Amino acid sequence: MLENLIANRWTPSAAAEWTAVMNPSRGVEIARCPVGSAADVDAAVRAARGALAGWAETPPGDRARILFRYKALLEEKFAEIALLICREHGKTLVEAQGDLRRGLDVVDLACGIPSLLMGQKLGQVARNIDGEAERFPVGVCAGITPYNFPAMIPLWMIPLALACGNTFVFKPSPKVPLTAARLVELLVEAGLPPGVLNLVHGGVETVHAILDHPGIAAVSFVGSTPVAREVYRRGTANGKRVQAAGGAKNFMIVMPDADMDLAAEAILSSSFGCAGQRCMAGSVAVVAGRAAEPITERLRGLAETMAVGATDEGAAVGMGPVIDGAAEERVRRYLAMGEAQGVEMLVDGRRHARPAGGYFVGPSIVSGVGAESGLLRDEVFGPVLTLLREEDLDGAIARANESPYGNGAVIYTRSGGAARKFARNVNCGMIGVNIGVPAPMALFPFAGWNESFFGDLHVQGNEGIQFYTRTKVTLTRWS
Ligand code: NAD
Repeated sequence: MLENLIANRWTPSAAAEWTAVMNPSRGVEIARCPVGSAADVDAAVRAARGALAGWAETPPGDRARILFRYKALLEEKFAEIALLICREHGKTLVEAQGDLRRGLDVVDLACGIPSLLMGQKLGQVARNIDGEAERFPVGVCAGITPYNFPAMIPLWMIPLALACGNTFVFKPSPKVPLTAARLVELLVEAGLPPGVLNLVHGGVETVHAILDHPGIAAVSFVGSTPVAREVYRRGTANGKRVQAAGGAKNFMIVMPDADMDLAAEAILSSSFGCAGQRCMAGSVAVVAGRAAEPITERLRGLAETMAVGATDEGAAVGMGPVIDGAAEERVRRYLAMGEAQGVEMLVDGRRHARPAGGYFVGPSIVSGVGAESGLLRDEVFGPVLTLLREEDLDGAIARANESPYGNGAVIYTRSGGAARKFARNVNCGMIGVNIGVPAPMALFPFAGWNESFFGDLHVQGNEGIQFYTRTKVTLTRWS
């Protein structure tokens, strides 16, 4: 039975309802998560408001010292947390380590907060008047996170928000609450004063209570597009600052001059890494001209021999399970629908040897998919790669730009000119050239566009700092 963290104390939830936390490798329950009520959210917000003035006035260097200790604790407990991610999410050990490592990068960034918060000054901005701009915290911030990166996504938000002098209410995904609880526990151990960070477990009602609470100034959300859109609408209607990152359908273009071995390995890891459950997963590969045959053959060979298995004990397999029975069912439904539409199943993950107990579906590659098919239109969020054919780069870019989403797109080519044309013309915010996933790096904003992002300032990088601060401009005259 999980509890909320309020003012540094584990506190029973006032929930009337609980959900099961599953080990997706085995299909067995490992914990129960409360669906936090409005009363739970209110208790967390009260604690966060009580701590705000003291924390906001704490010198940035002192806030950073706590984050340095947190970083050391995360490094020390790295193996333990990675295994926890394997257990409740189903990632392979390498993927779980990557999840935590990327999150640690943001802690590193936040440790530099004294420099990052430095303002601007112009003496004599007018006669005998000096002007300066300084960054202040926005107040109590809230973070609502999805299941697919149990460590990285909470760490996109919490370290930067706290470093900037805000206090925080964190609502993790009820599918992966154990990693979340461990992450906040270690921050308390690092020396965070009571009330600065609070955790409320829950689901839809908990999110609504956050969006409606007058004591919360800003909300960071990451999840699917329909929910992101609604969170943005409801949060901003209630006068809050909101950044809401949504789902995606990411395209990869393979040019005939590409290094085919490199491209095949990169596409494979992009499409099937984390069992396809990444908002940056490559979902559609557009193969241009004579790239079709060499890339298809390589991809087929690699996918057919991929080892799929349980990951909860850190076994070295190629791909783990999807998160739950509903996710497995959804992927299988998309494949069945494609088959009924006459799609060519180059590799059919439903036929892959299936480990017993958990939620498994092997890697699939399909081609001959029509524009109206859900396989091309929707975010499947599972290990399914769709291949499309186009004559040339212009046709491939046009296909990619038909997507309403806008997280990432990648090109494989040896031509600088093709790469440049692609990077400048493709309609999304994160571009890769000859790499698997243009992964979100802490120093840069996670720059989703279109239906993949609602708001103005993205998470991470300089935009993260701007989101969690507001500017005060002071003009001074001394004669
Ligand atoms: P989700 O939208 O179902 O849930 C995200 C969060 O919102 C969870 O905390 C959940 O409890 C809450 N929630 C769910 N339904 C809600 C509702 N109707 N109203 C209010 N709150 C609700 O997402 P998920 O399945 O946990 O995660 C996968 C999705 O997240 C995918 O679409 C993926 O592309 C997206 N994602 C996006 C990014 C990005 O940076 N753009 C990163 C990771 C994941």
